[in-house]
Amino acid sequence: MERVEAVDCETRIDARSGRPVGEAPVEPPPTPGLLKRVASYAKAELSLLVHGPVADEEFERRKRACESCRGLVQHPDDPIGFCGLCGCGTRKRAALSVKITMPDAECPLSRWSAKAAVAPYGRRSGQIR
Ligand code: SF4
Repeated sequence: MERVEAVDCETRIDARSGRPVGEAPVEPPPTPGLLKRVASYAKAELSLLVHGPVADEEFERRKRACESCRGLVQHPDDPIGFCGLCGCGTRKRAALSVKITMPDAECPLSRWSAKAAVAPYGRRSGQIR
């Protein structure tokens, strides 16, 4: 009798590509130009200043999206890592533990967006996770 292993019924990930099995390769989006990156960064920081960090649920949703993303670059300076597709590099404020708290930050692959962080933003309990 053939032995059947328990299989996760959700998306299966190809070990080599890191993409869901059956998903066609997707070209990474072009890195935005400097002016666009500066404007996006200013908008994101301003939203954090004005509204405070996103609610815990939105933080966790964004974090899960990043942790399962092919664009994630793990890095010793941040428990989540850095986005390798947005062009923000590995500056302290670009760390995903910081970036995903900003209500108006955007994901270059649209895996999460500012639109989901609807006001009123919930104040998170303080420390970056
Ligand atoms: S911000 Fe978007 S593209 Fe970058 S790692 Fe997170 S989910 Fe992936």
